[in-house]
Amino acid sequence: LVVLSGVNKHFGDLHVLRDINLSVDPGEVVIVIGPSGSGKSTMCRTINRLETYESGSITIDGKPLPQEGKELAQLRADVGMVFQSFNLFAHKTILDNVTLGPIKVRQKAKAAAEKEAMALLERVGVAHQAQKYPAQLSGGQQQRVAIARSLAMEPKVMLFDEPTSALDPEMINEVLDVMIGLAKDGMTMIVVTHEMGFARKAANRVVFMADGQIVEQATPEEFFTNAQSNRAKDFLAKIL
Ligand code: ATP
Ligand code: MG
Repeated sequence: LVVLSGVNKHFGDLHVLRDINLSVDPGEVVIVIGPSGSGKSTMCRTINRLETYESGSITIDGKPLPQEGKELAQLRADVGMVFQSFNLFAHKTILDNVTLGPIKVRQKAKAAAEKEAMALLERVGVAHQAQKYPAQLSGGQQQRVAIARSLAMEPKVMLFDEPTSALDPEMINEVLDVMIGLAKDGMTMIVVTHEMGFARKAANRVVFMADGQIVEQATPEEFFTNAQSNRAKDFLAKIL
């Protein structure tokens, strides 16, 4: 569903993505881990075309990433992204945050969009907050709204970039539980996270990055108990 072949990217002199090859199948949940600065966020942003790349190719569902215009808006709808900071529209209600994309990009009628939005808010456990504004919600609730907002676009794949790292500890699980539910429902997901609980419960594969390269890939079980490379062993010694 998502295929990167030989992708390279520089920021000035810094070779931030080095010959990245990654193929994610429909329904697969891939965790991306690695040291700070290894290129995890850049890889996610490149898949969503928030960043450009210089060589190689990226396809979503067999189609190359579009460069601009209507096709790019469609891509952003097909590839949902949830960031560390929730990025909700502060001056819009929770319900409007979720319906905006479907009405503008998917050309849904308002009533239909609101009905679907309420069902999604129900699913992530914040339906009773629909008429509030983002600042009136906790961080964990806002992040769940951000997930609902992405899901409202009916994405083919969801990218998560450290979705729980800005949250207070007691709110982390409420967000991870929503993500575990999504994984169980068959959503294709690429998740940058160091949350081992999520990795063990929901991931099919762990991708370990260092210095802009994919150093190794394995099942969570294999990776956490029997990492092969020294880079990965060093990294695990620090986080486990
Ligand atoms: P972290 O775990 O800290 O989030 P990461 O693996 O997500 O790290 P990236 O954010 O992808 O790492 O950054 C990879 C490298 O690219 C870093 O050295 C970073 O400083 C650099 N970088 C990221 N964005 C830019 C930018 N817009 N301009 C220049 N350099 C950048
Ligand atoms: Mg990052």
